[in-house]
Formats: sequence, C-alpha cells, structure tokens
Amino acid sequence: MNSVDYDAVVVGAGAGGIYAVHKLTQEGLRVIAFEGAPDVGGVWYHNRYPGARVDIESYFYCFPDEELYPRWTWKERYPAQPEILAYLNFAADSWGVRPHIRFSTWVTGAQWEPAAHRYRVTTSSGESVTGRYLIMASGQLSKARTPAFPGLEDYRGRWVQTSHWPTDHVETAGKRIAVIGTGSSGVQAVPALARDAENVTVFQRTANYSVPAQNGPLDQQKYADLAGRVAEMREAILHHPTGSDIPLGAGPAGSFTPEEQQALLRERWARGGHTMNAVFSDQGTDIHANTLVADFVRQHVLDTVRDPVTADILTPRSYPIGSRRLCVDTGYYEAFNQRNVDLIDVKADPIERITPQGIRTRDHDLEFDLIVFALGFSAFTGALDEANIRNEFGERPTDRWARGPRTLLGLMTRGFPNLFLLTGPGSPSVLANMILDNVQHVDFVADLLRHMGERGHTKVEPEEKAQDEWTAHVAEAASNLLRLNVENYMVHVNRDDGSRVFMPYVAGLDRYVAECDKVAADDFAGFAFS
Ligand code: NAP
Repeated sequence: MNSVDYDAVVVGAGAGGIYAVHKLTQEGLRVIAFEGAPDVGGVWYHNRYPGARVDIESYFYCFPDEELYPRWTWKERYPAQPEILAYLNFAADSWGVRPHIRFSTWVTGAQWEPAAHRYRVTTSSGESVTGRYLIMASGQLSKARTPAFPGLEDYRGRWVQTSHWPTDHVETAGKRIAVIGTGSSGVQAVPALARDAENVTVFQRTANYSVPAQNGPLDQQKYADLAGRVAEMREAILHHPTGSDIPLGAGPAGSFTPEEQQALLRERWARGGHTMNAVFSDQGTDIHANTLVADFVRQHVLDTVRDPVTADILTPRSYPIGSRRLCVDTGYYEAFNQRNVDLIDVKADPIERITPQGIRTRDHDLEFDLIVFALGFSAFTGALDEANIRNEFGERPTDRWARGPRTLLGLMTRGFPNLFLLTGPGSPSVLANMILDNVQHVDFVADLLRHMGERGHTKVEPEEKAQDEWTAHVAEAASNLLRLNVENYMVHVNRDDGSRVFMPYVAGLDRYVAECDKVAADDFAGFAFS
C-alpha cells in the first residue's frame, strides 16, 4: 500500500476537531487538521453575536475529561459565547493540539485514491497532503444560509450574519437595527441588541416557541462534586437520551390530573430551557399532550407581551411545540415591551427588497444602520458539500443522498471509504449534547482505527446491508413523531414523492451508545475492512 503523509486529516477545529486531534495523536497517529477560521472554536468562534449562549447546561457542555474538568469552572448555567470560546481555547492549549492545526485554511477538495487507500486533500492555501482517514469535524450547523434578498448589494449600511459575526467591533449602541430571523440565534440576539440600540425591528416569518433559559450562576458545589467523579458522570450522561441530566418526561400526559399536569408544567418551566421538551413522555407523538405544553408557553407570551397585537403575532400556532427546535432565550418576549423594539410579521407584510437605506416591505419603508441576518444553516449537508469530497467515481457523499442521508451509525456512508462524519445524520447529533456526541464519535473512531491497525487493514466502509438496516432503523425511530411532518431543518423532503426523512437519530444518545457498543464488541460488525 502506498504511504501517506498523515494517518488522519481532520476538517474543522471546533469541539469535535480539537478532541479528534487530541485523541488520535494520543493514539500515536500522525494527524493534521485544517480550520477555515484563524483560531479554534468552530461555531463558537463564528457565532459571536451579542446574546449568543449555549442551551445545554455547562456542567455537561464540556469535555468529560478527568484531567481537564477539575481545572475549569463555569460562571453560569448557560455560558455566553466568550466563555465557551475561552474554554475551547483552554482545552486546545491543555492538550497541545494547535501545532497540528493549520488555521485560516479551508479544505477545497478531498479525492479518494482507490489504489493507495488514501485521500488527497487540497486546501485554500495551495497545500496538498495525503491522509489515510478523513475525519469531518466540520459540524452540522456551520454552513450558513446566505441572505438572498434583492438589493442587498446596494445597501449602504452595514450587514452581518449571526452565524459569522465579525471579529472587528460591530457598533450597535444608538443604531437602528433590523433583525431578520427568529430561530435560536435571533431570539438570543434581539434582547441583547435592544439594550443599547436606538431601535430594533424584528422581522418574523414564523412565530417560534421560545422558553426562558432561567439562566443563573453555576451551582459551584454541583460542579465540584462532578469534578470529583468525572468518569462516573461521563458514563451517566452517555446513558442519558440528551447527554445531560435534564429530567425525562414524567409519563404520558393522560396519566395525570389537570392539576398535576399544570404543576408539572410549572415545575419544568421553573427549571428552564429544554426541560419543556420533555414534560410529558408523549408530547412529541401525541397532539393532545403536545397542546398542553404549547398552550402553557403560548399563555406565557400573552402574559408577558403587553401590546395585544404584538403578542398575537408572536404567539406560536403553526406547529406543535418541539417539532422544530425549541428556542431558549433570556428576555426575548420581554424585549417587545421596550419602546425601542418593533415587530414586523413578514408573512403579512413581506420583505420586498433591501434598499440603499434599509428594508422595504409591502407596507413599510424603513431605514437601518445595521441589518442582522439570523437565517440559519444549510444543516447536515452544507459543510460536507463545501469540502468537495469525491470518491473514485467523482461523486460527493450527498450525491447518493437524494432520498435522504444513508449512513451506518451516522458515522460512515457507503461508497466513501475511510471517511468519518462526526455527529453526522443518522446519529443523535443536534438532538443531544454536541460536545459529548463528538467525544463519543471520536472515541468510537479511535477504537475502530486501532482495531484496523492491529489487523493491518487500511480501508473501511459500511456494508450495504448494515447501512440499509441502520437507515431503516433511524427512519423507524422517527416514524411516529409529530415533527416529521413539520418544515424543519432536521427533515429531508424527497423531491420525487414528497416523503420525509428525519435526519438525526431520535431514539436517544443512550440507545445510540448501546448500539455503538454492541457493534464494537462484535468486532465492528457491519463495517467491511480490507
Ligand atoms: P434557524 O432556527 O434555522 O432559524 C432561522 C430563522 O430565519 C427562522 O426564523 C426562519 O424563518 C428565518 N428565515 C430564514 N429565511 C428567511 C427569509 N428569507 N425571510 C425571513 N425569515 C427567514 O436558525 P438559527 O436561529 O441560527 O438556529 C439554528 C440552530 O442552531 C438551532 O436550532 C440550534 O440547534 C443552533 N443554535 C443553538 C443556540 C443555542 O445553543 N442556544 C443558539 C443559536 C443556534 P422560518 O421559521 O419561517 O423558517
């Protein structure tokens, strides 16, 4: 077999890439990583918009590493972006991964060379290296949807994207600001921007459900306790559906009296954030259970927002709660009680164009100094496509995914040997704690590569049958979900017949880890080696 420059080429230096470089170098592999940004952090490098925070509690949104964990502590339950970025820098420095990473370098192509069992990887800096294994740590929510509004090129103010917030100072104090998009990013940015802007006008297309994070200082006692038993904690969260310790559904809604239902809703509300996703065990599948939770959140909107017209527009009614990712905010609805915050419903009053001065809708012509686009991502496939990975037939992985992603364990896809998709479609991915997802995937890959090294294998890809079975299992797990029928970045809609594929594995991280453990214990059954 031909030689390689590197055993593993890692794409991306966010949490997944940092851990992949650390783990694989520890395994004695020669590793190089490429990262488009000038520093580590991935989405936490780019998403530096005001108000950006994580929505998984910080006890668990970090590496479950016995050496690292006790040396760090967080200030808040849901830390803001600067603290998370500082943490990822701390991890990168502690593990000494930087010398392995080429920053400000995008991967422009990765060609599988079938005779040599390696990828030739080319980059924006003109570099060309070969690697036995290609590890995509490029994230599932990293390739932003670019704004495509007519007239943007003539706009004389400044425009920015939450997903790629500039590193230079973006002046917001005293400015007239438009925010387009009210997903997780938009609802976090609005109250933060409204603090010192002259005016913030929010352009909402769909009213989303947003629940308060109930953020606050970290319970340092709890953190210290976890720091003293990291290995145990790691096992516990790997065996939890979301990779954390949030309470699971208390039981089917119908098993509680109306008073008990309301008490449970209040209790979960007080705890905050994604706990509202699992008040009742059947709220994701039963519309009556779901409506109980949705009504509770809708009532909060009506109780909070003083202007009844604004409250009405903000009230989410078009889909069941949790069937798109629940937004978690700090003061979103409250912001609309400020005199400097306005709302435009773009379904009733569509954006016609960006003008040199601002935004023209059907009914308004508004001037802005700054337009903030919070339009979301080309989820699951955007960053993968961008790397321009080609197999021996010149295909990209997504060329074979016309009817939705086909993977084994969300980690590999047939026809693309030695290519690993960290947190890929078919794994729990965005439904669980993404740092833990990455750690679990990298550990699995490290075990797989060790297995191969011990046997002298240099090529691995999923067996067709195993991939078919896993893809069918992922679909089956999602078959009774309310969210399968809702427009949503997690759902792939087949062009030919309109049928739908839910991309992440919804049965829970715990179940997924058990499946991975079973495969590993069975000598990686389902993977074909040569
Ligand atoms: P998103 O949830 O996809 O939201 C995009 C928003 O832009 C939606 O409100 C969408 O409206 C709107 N939009 C898109 N195109 C538009 C157009 N042409 N005109 C008007 N509005 C338009 O994206 P996101 O807010 O960036 O969040 C994506 C994911 O990133 C989240 O679900 C979460 O997984 C992650 N995230 C997490 C956090 C956190 O940890 N707290 C923070 C930010 C992001 P429609 O709803 O009508 O499509």
